Amino acid sequence: MRVGIGSDVHPVEAGKPCWMAGLLFEGVDGCSGHSDGDVAAHALCDALLSAAGLGDLGSVFGTDRPEMAGASGASMLAEVRRLLDANGFTIGNAAVQVIGNRPKIGPRRDDAQRVLSDVLGAPVSVSATTTDGLGLTGRGEGVAAIATALVLPLETER
Ligand code: MG
Repeated sequence: MRVGIGSDVHPVEAGKPCWMAGLLFEGVDGCSGHSDGDVAAHALCDALLSAAGLGDLGSVFGTDRPEMAGASGASMLAEVRRLLDANGFTIGNAAVQVIGNRPKIGPRRDDAQRVLSDVLGAPVSVSATTTDGLGLTGRGEGVAAIATALVLPLETER
């Protein structure tokens, strides 16, 4: 078994759709960025790549490739899953914590966990916290996420 860690931070952008943990949160300002700004999905991608020793989002996807413009977090996670499979790893489980004032994850936690678990084909836990008004997340300037993942080598034929 191998564990990995990932994190991400994006600035909040007024009027941008808020995609977080694979869900669209209506009426909430989303995160700016080259992709859809889903920091939870990005942190999970990095944790999975970290666990498998396959680099990180920047090295795998590039940070400014045109085909990644607006890319959904779910599509990036699907690609990471495919990459892990191609490199002989299966996903054991993953967990992500969203750090920020908005969106409120709790009421939609089950939906987020279901969406992310379906994409990865493994259990994904989603949690959230605030920073009590401190720092860029506390001031609502940005949203952060931190994630862990466990991967296992695929059974090889003998
Ligand atoms: Mg990101």
